[in-house]
Amino acid sequence: MKPIIKPFLPPLEEYNKYLEGIWEGNWLTNMGPLSGKLEEGLKLLLKVDRLLFVTSGTVALQMAIKALDLKGEIITTPYSFMATASSIVWVGCKPVFVEIDKHSLNIDPSQIEAAITPETTGILATHIYGNPCDVEAIEAVAKKNNLKVIYDGAHAFGVEINGKSVFEYGDISICSLHATKYNHAVEGGLVITKDGNLLKKLAYIRNFGFNGNDAFDGLRINGKNSELHAAMGLANLKWIDRIFEKRKLLTETYDKQLRNFGGVKPVWNTNASLNYAFYPLVFDTEQLMHKCILKLEKNEIHTKRYFYPSLASSLPYLEPQGLKVTDSICKRIICLPLYYDLSVEEVELISGLLLEAQNSQMDMSGVCSLDFY
Ligand SMILES: *Cc1c(COP(=O)(O)O)cnc(C)c1O
Repeated sequence: MKPIIKPFLPPLEEYNKYLEGIWEGNWLTNMGPLSGKLEEGLKLLLKVDRLLFVTSGTVALQMAIKALDLKGEIITTPYSFMATASSIVWVGCKPVFVEIDKHSLNIDPSQIEAAITPETTGILATHIYGNPCDVEAIEAVAKKNNLKVIYDGAHAFGVEINGKSVFEYGDISICSLHATKYNHAVEGGLVITKDGNLLKKLAYIRNFGFNGNDAFDGLRINGKNSELHAAMGLANLKWIDRIFEKRKLLTETYDKQLRNFGGVKPVWNTNASLNYAFYPLVFDTEQLMHKCILKLEKNEIHTKRYFYPSLASSLPYLEPQGLKVTDSICKRIICLPLYYDLSVEEVELISGLLLEAQNSQMDMSGVCSLDFY
């Protein structure tokens, strides 16, 4: 079975080297030397000045909302992983969903203003599949309305926009270092900010609010990560260029093979670089998508309806809400297998199966993709 994602594992001896150091030093967690080294390495690689290594991307989101003291309503995207919306609810705020742009699949900035109420305190937008949001438009509407901005950059590791890290935008950005993500530490997340005072606050939030040994700065939690996770992060970091090159090659192979296929990729931000974290494909019709999924499954190739259904319609703790563009995309999108161990031949095989599925349904009337709503 070809999975949709296969986590990258570095050579065991490279990980073991770090473990030996941990055994010698007997320092397992609490901002240890490897965590520090990972943070320094990531700052250099991502070209950002300030970040913290934390438990997970989800905890990073919760820490970000708390650090910015957001209350009431937070405007957010219905097209993301559930942690984006659940984090808002978890910290006692209310998510207000705004439609996505049908080309980028990111939140549509032109619709944010209409969703602002006196209760609104912030915007939480996701760079979906690593494709940067229209950060300038979001910044403009945030400034005008005195709102804070958090970016869920769980998919956006390494992406640059206007020549700098996408994580430089917004008040706080987060990233996920989960095993299924492009660069991982088994479990883990990052909070990234340009603001030194905010970073200090985030550091308190990460460590129970400890201010010295016997004083506390406020109501805080445990968002630390361990040395064993940092070790995996460091071992993987050495491979990041090779992982990038391989993913790029596989993506270009899909692009070439699927140039006559009845589906489109989201339109990438023209000012941004790519990280090849995912290969999302929006099918012309739902029918064609189901046919393709079936064809691939029959050949033991797994795909994921990522994301389906929309956050606005599916979370049991929120009133379900239909959104025309979002729901239409959710129904017709899958991600194709894309990971380091996948071969070019396998990508060709997968593409061939998709084309076969398409050609065997030529008789059915195809509704043209993004224009029918
Ligand atoms: C994976 C993911 C998260 C959560 O990250 P974890 O590290 O798994 O907690 C948040 N947002 C998005 C968009 C994600 O894909």
